[in-house]
Amino acid sequence: MAIQEFTKGEYMKVIDKVNAIKQQELTATENLEQMYEVIKENNDSINAFVEIDYPRAQKFAEKVDEKIKNGEKTGKLAGLVIGVKCNMNIEDYIVSAASPTLKEYIGSYNATVVNRVIEEDGVIIGLTNMDEFAAGSSTETSMYGPTDNPSAPGHIPGGSSGGSAAAIAADMCDISLGSDTGGSIRNPASHCGVMGFKPTYGNVSRQGLLDLSMSLDQIGPFAKDTSGIALMLDTITGYDPTDTTTFEGKPDDFVDDINTDSLENTKVGVVKEFMDVSDDKIVSQINNSIDKLSSLGAEITELTFDDIDLGLPTYYLINYVEFFSATRKYDGRKYGERIEEVCGPEVARRIQIGSYISQKEFSGKYYKKALQARSLIRNDFNELLNGVDVIAGPTVPKLPHKIGETIEPMDMYAYDVLTVIANITGIPASSMNSGFVNDIPVGLQLQAKPQEDHKILRTMSALENN
Ligand code: GLN
Repeated sequence: MAIQEFTKGEYMKVIDKVNAIKQQELTATENLEQMYEVIKENNDSINAFVEIDYPRAQKFAEKVDEKIKNGEKTGKLAGLVIGVKCNMNIEDYIVSAASPTLKEYIGSYNATVVNRVIEEDGVIIGLTNMDEFAAGSSTETSMYGPTDNPSAPGHIPGGSSGGSAAAIAADMCDISLGSDTGGSIRNPASHCGVMGFKPTYGNVSRQGLLDLSMSLDQIGPFAKDTSGIALMLDTITGYDPTDTTTFEGKPDDFVDDINTDSLENTKVGVVKEFMDVSDDKIVSQINNSIDKLSSLGAEITELTFDDIDLGLPTYYLINYVEFFSATRKYDGRKYGERIEEVCGPEVARRIQIGSYISQKEFSGKYYKKALQARSLIRNDFNELLNGVDVIAGPTVPKLPHKIGETIEPMDMYAYDVLTVIANITGIPASSMNSGFVNDIPVGLQLQAKPQEDHKILRTMSALENN
C-alpha cells in the first residue's frame, strides 16, 4: 500500500510511520519508493541531495522488511528514510563537505552516527548539500550550487546544513542529520520551517565528521515533528570510545518526552537583547509563541544578557583558528587538491585570517582573548540559565535573503548572532517553527543548561501537542 493511500494524504508522524512499518501496515520498501519519487520529481530544482544511492538503500530496505516478516527485532528507525549531510563519512560515498578539495574523496569508513543509524535500521538514501566545509549560513557556497528553500522558494534555505533542512521540508526523507558549529542546524531549520536540534556538546559523537571547528561542532537531527527528533536523538546520543569528548553513558530515552502537553512548573526566560537585535515582525511572531508557552502553564521571566555583542567576535576568532588547523591536512598529498588552490572565498578568508592570528607573535592577542571571552560568556549565560528551565527567543534575527543576492560577509555572519551562544557555551538548543512573516517561516529557539536536552524537547512537544 502506498503511503498516501495509507495516510489518506494526511501527514503521518514519524513515530506512527515506524510503528506502521513494524506492524507490516506499510513496508520499508514502499516508504523508500515514495520518498524517492519525491526526490526524482523535485531534487533537480531544490538541490537538497547531492548524492543518492537508491539501489543500496533499496537493498537495505528489503533487509529491514525481511527482518520484520521473520519476526526479528528491528531498530528504532526501522524503515525510515534518512539523509546525511555531506560532511559525515559514509563508506563508498563521496564525502566532499561540498568542497572541490574533496571532490574525489571517497569515504572509507562510517562516522559513528552513521553506524548507529544503520544499527537502528534507518535507510540512508544519500548525502545532502551544505556550505563549503560548513562555513556559512546560506548553502550558497557549495560546489554543488545552492539549495532552494522549499518553504519559501527563491530564498536561501539557511545553512550550513541547508540540504538537510530542505530535504525534510520537501518530504524527501523522514529524518536528516546536520552539524551545528554556530547555528548550522537551527538556522536552516528556522528558514525552512522544520525542527532542528543541536544536542549538548559531548552528547553525540563527532567521530567521522569533517570538522569546521572541533570545540564547537555537534551533530544533530532535523525532522518535521518531535517524534522524529526524539528517535534520532535516541539513536545517536551516548558515549563513543573513539570520541573522547563524549560523556559516559547515555541520556534517558527522548521518546518519553514527546507526549508532554503541559508546561506547569516550567520557567521560561526571555532575553531582552535577543529581541532587541531581531526584526520587529520576527519579534512579534516570537511573542505569539511565548504567549502560547505561558498559556500552557509556563512562568515567563524577562532576562538581560550583556555579553551579546561578544558572541560573534568570540565565535569567529575560535572558528578561524580551529578551522585553519583542521585544514592543514588538505595539502594536496592525501586528499586531492590543495585547499587554498581550489576553495571558495569564505573558506579562503577563514584560512588566511586563521593562519594570521595563529602566528606566535600574536599569541595572547586574539585567540587567548577569545578563549577568555568564551569563559565569560559561558559563566554569564549559565548564570541566566540557573534561574529558568529554558530560554526562548528567535533563532535568526532576520528573514532569509533571496538566492544570489549579494551579501557582505559581516551581514552573513550577523545571521548567527543568536545561535553562536549555544556553541560557545556547549549547551543544547533547538529550533521549531513559530509561524510566518511575509509567508516565510520563522523559528523559535529554545536553549537549556548543559545535559538538559530533555527540557527542550519537552517544551517543543508541549507546543506541538497543543
Ligand atoms: N554560520 C556559521 C559559520 O559560518 C555557523 C556554521 C555552522 O554552524 N557550521 O561559521
